[in-house]
Order: sequence, then structure tokens, then C-alpha cells
Amino acid sequence: MAKVVILGGGVAGLTVAHALAEKGVESTVVSLHDYYISGPSRPLILSGEQSVDRITRGYNFLPKEIKVTYGRVEEVDFANRKVKLANKRELDYDYLVVALGLRYAYDAIKIEDHVFNVYDLGKVFDLKHLVWNITEGTIVVNAPKQPYRCAPAPGETVMTIDMILRHRGVRDKVKLIFVDGNEKPQPPVIADVWLKLFEEAGIEYYLNKQITEVTKEGVVLDDGTQIKADYKVILPPNKPVLFDSWLEVRGPKDLRLKDYDDVFAVGDIAKLPFPKNAEIATQSALNAAAKLMEELGVGGGNYVDYKFSGWAYAGNLKGELKTLSVQFSLDFSEGKPKGSKDPEPKEEYTKRKDAWEQAMLKKLFGY
Ligand SMILES: Cc1cc2nc3c(=O)[nH]c(=O)nc-3n(C[C@H](O)[C@H](O)[C@H](O)COP(=O)(O)OP(=O)(O)OC[C@H]3O[C@@H](n4cnc5c(N)ncnc54)[C@H](O)[C@@H]3O)c2cc1C
Repeated sequence: MAKVVILGGGVAGLTVAHALAEKGVESTVVSLHDYYISGPSRPLILSGEQSVDRITRGYNFLPKEIKVTYGRVEEVDFANRKVKLANKRELDYDYLVVALGLRYAYDAIKIEDHVFNVYDLGKVFDLKHLVWNITEGTIVVNAPKQPYRCAPAPGETVMTIDMILRHRGVRDKVKLIFVDGNEKPQPPVIADVWLKLFEEAGIEYYLNKQITEVTKEGVVLDDGTQIKADYKVILPPNKPVLFDSWLEVRGPKDLRLKDYDDVFAVGDIAKLPFPKNAEIATQSALNAAAKLMEELGVGGGNYVDYKFSGWAYAGNLKGELKTLSVQFSLDFSEGKPKGSKDPEPKEEYTKRKDAWEQAMLKKLFGY
């Protein structure tokens, strides 16, 4: 039987492993940790509406065809079909799936002060502590230029902070500033909704500006503007894990690397003309699995179009600790993206997002 190795036990890697397992194909998944913490509802850790244990899973309840080995991938030698792990371990493969995701490149901007965000867990808990304790000051939140992981997350962050400060009765003492590195608030399909919400919430908004420096006094933008801020909620530019650039694939439905017939790239690490999120990661993984099954001669898998519904947390302007969300859809199946939305934020959509995330975790991890 061909030896299939999958690097990364996240959304994309496990989706490939499950699709293969359904056809009786064994694979070895290399995972950095023995746990996985889901991303989408991390902003709600700030408000206490989500807890880490509800979104964390281990790898003990996977189908028997999926073998998991723990270790850090340090190098891949595509020409010799070898994966090098920490502690001098090596793995050979016949087919390789690279699903290592991305990293937050704190080294890409000059940072001279503490930063918070909703991405790295220590920074999430520190941000939670901050917004539940400050009584005055200025908080600046940024979105880097695309591509970055999960388009609405920075907007969700600033609106969730706004909700908590309102709830605590200190919103009028804390100034909120949002610096967006993109031409429109992300994702563009709900740009008008974000702009209305930011205005209603009294959030100062800078469009199309990158933060290049974080100082003790505040942040510096790419046009030299200095913004004074006491607390900096920073998502640095996103970069691929291990590689210098996003992995170039042959196309959205043929996820093999340009130069290697036996190597696939899926999920956030792949260079695709779509946003980086869990739905796109899943769909790229299903397409890679379909091709791989053809190669293995185990019957075709299902190729899928790239389209999804998503939900953006919109805070709660009444200051109730009940996050409302905006629902939107994006369909890339005919080239130019087709978008739709319900511009009215609703609590029902927050519940839908939770149900969607829990269903995804159940599918991937068994519960
Ligand atoms: C705060 C936040 C909010 C988000 N919101 C949404 C949302 O609302 N909707 C949505 O669809 N998506 C959302 N996402 C994005 C979604 O989680 C990602 O797009 C998705 O997880 C990408 O899947 P992936 O498999 O490419 O990467 P991941 O799921 O990150 O999996 C990569 C795996 O590789 C492992 N790994 C990394 N380096 C190594 C190494 N050197 N060796 C071995 N293993 C390694 C990692 O530990 C990880 O387990 C959000 C993410 C975050 C963090």
C-alpha cells in the first residue's frame, strides 16, 4: 500500500485523512501538539461566551486508518521524498500532503511593546484580563493586509471589546481605534455593515493603512502617521509555516505542487485565490483527497466547489453580553465571487456559528 504522510493535524490535514480513511486508505498525520484548539470562536473567549475546553480536542478518537505521530516538521526534501522532524526523526513517503497552516509573523513588524490579539492563546487571555479591568485609555486594533487568516476576525475583535466595555459601563472612558490594512473592511461582502457598526460604536477607523511599528507610545503607520495608544491588539502579517512563500498549486481543484506530482498543499498554506478560512481549507482538502484517490486507484472522491456561509461577530451595542452576528455567503464556483448577506446582526447567527464549529470538530476529531 502506498505510504501517505500528511503534515499538520488541523482542519485541512484531518479532512484529507478522513476522506482517505473512508476508502480504507491509511495515512500518517504529523501533528505538532497532542491537541488542537479551534479558531473561529476564539474572540468569544474575551466575553466568556466561549471556553477553551469546548473548542479543544485530542487525537484519540480518530478512525483506525489514521495514525498520528507527534513532532515538529523541520524540513521537507521533496526531491528525495523525506520529511525531517525534530530530534533527527525522518519519515519517507510515496504521497505527501502539506497542511501546516500559517504563522503570525511578529518578526515582520517592529514591536517594542506588549501586544494582544485573539489568535495566540496567551495573548487572548491577557486581552480578556485587560478589557475586563481597564477603566480608561486607548486601545488600537489592526487588520493586516490580506491574505490573513479569517477575514472578519479583526473586526470581530474590536466589536467584542466594544461590547465588553459597554457592559462594564466604561466605554466612554476607553477610546477604540481600528487600523485596517485593506481597501475595504473584510470580507468586502459585509464592508458596509462593518462601517455602519464602527460608526454607531464610535470606533475611530483608518482604512488602507499598515502598522509598521509598535512602540511604547502607540503605533506607526506606513505613511508615517503616529497614533497614540496605551494597548495594542495586533495581528501581524500572516506567513506560511516552514516555507518562504505560500505553496503554489496547479489550481483550485488540482492541489499538487507545480513541480511534484506526489506532493499536495491544502488549507491556509496553499496559494489559492480565496480567503483563508476553515471552509476553504476543508474544500481544498476534499479536492486534494479526490485527486489522490484517483492516483491510488481507490475510486474517485468528490471534487467540490469553493463556496460557504460565514458569520461575523458584531458585538452588542446595547452592552448586553450576548454577541450578535452578521451572516454572509460567498460563492467562488463561477470565478468572480458572488456574495450575499443579511445586514442585520442577530443572536441566532452566533448560535449557528457555534453549531457549525462544533459540527466541524465532531467530524474531524470524533466528538
Ligand atoms: C482567531 C481565529 C478566528 C477564525 N475564524 C474563522 C471563522 O470564523 N471561520 C472560518 O471558516 N475560519 C476561521 N478561522 C480560520 C481557520 O481556523 C483556518 O483557516 C483553518 O484552521 C485552516 O486550516 P489548516 O489546516 O490550513 O491550518 P490549521 O487548522 O492551523 O492546522 C495546521 C496544523 O499544523 C500544525 N503545525 C504547524 N506547524 C507545524 C510543524 N512545524 N510541525 C508539525 N505540525 C505543525 C498546527 O499545530 C496545526 O495543528 C479562524 C482562525 C482563528 C485563529
